[in-house]
Amino acid sequence: MTRTEAEPSGPAAAARPTAPRIACRGLTRRHKSGSGYLEVLRDVELRVERGSFVAIVGPSGSGKSTLLALLAGLDRADGGEVLYDGESLAGLDEDGLARWRRGRVGFVFQSFQLFGHLTARENVLLPLEIGGIEGARGRAERLLAEVGLGDRGHHYPSQLSGGEQQRVALARAFAGAPELLLADEPTGNLDAANGRMVLELFERLRRELGTTVVLVTHDPGIADLADARVYLEAGRVVRVDRGGPAT
Ligand code: ADP
Ligand code: MG
Repeated sequence: MTRTEAEPSGPAAAARPTAPRIACRGLTRRHKSGSGYLEVLRDVELRVERGSFVAIVGPSGSGKSTLLALLAGLDRADGGEVLYDGESLAGLDEDGLARWRRGRVGFVFQSFQLFGHLTARENVLLPLEIGGIEGARGRAERLLAEVGLGDRGHHYPSQLSGGEQQRVALARAFAGAPELLLADEPTGNLDAANGRMVLELFERLRRELGTTVVLVTHDPGIADLADARVYLEAGRVVRVDRGGPAT
């Protein structure tokens, strides 16, 4: 019997380690626009291998944020599907999606999406507590210190600058030690030094936990660090460039 035949097929095969961590097939998303539809994504194909770092690049309005939200199951496609470890997310309802994300997926929104009534520390702590992670308090403190906000944990988002809020959002996404980190322009509001600090954190997360990273960025310097760059234009993938970082 060949090895191929010995491998399980059907749903059991879905979790085999050779499947990409996250992938999508024929992903299409449209929004109503006047009497017609605006096609925001069309037939997008993507494969992101475990532990790899993929950058999504493209002009404003090309569909980058929409794609990321679909990959996270935060938005529903009008066509095609998203696969995690080879398994389609299509059959999951909202609760199922929330359960799938919990402990697996970290998401950094372009607009941060911090809870305004919670302090920076509480914003980072929340997913740890929901996930029942031990030593949550210490971990939250450490992460805040690592993004340079060790002394700002008691501040509310409204008391923090955009860049500081972005770093809180990053600490929150890192806090759950995710298998997959999806980040929408995570260095967009940061100066060069803080941007570097955040990239070092991403690198450490990948090194220590094998986290897969999909990052939307405008910054060619960051895109160049990725294992692959996916170029979006008007909702279509126009090019995939698989050259790794030039070291
Ligand atoms: P990017 O992140 O690349 O700047 P987006 O994914 O945010 O692009 O948006 C892609 C396009 O889809 C834009 O033209 C945007 O205006 C449109 N769009 C996004 N969300 C909606 C929505 N809820 N309703 C209508 N149009 C939308
Ligand atoms: Mg965007």
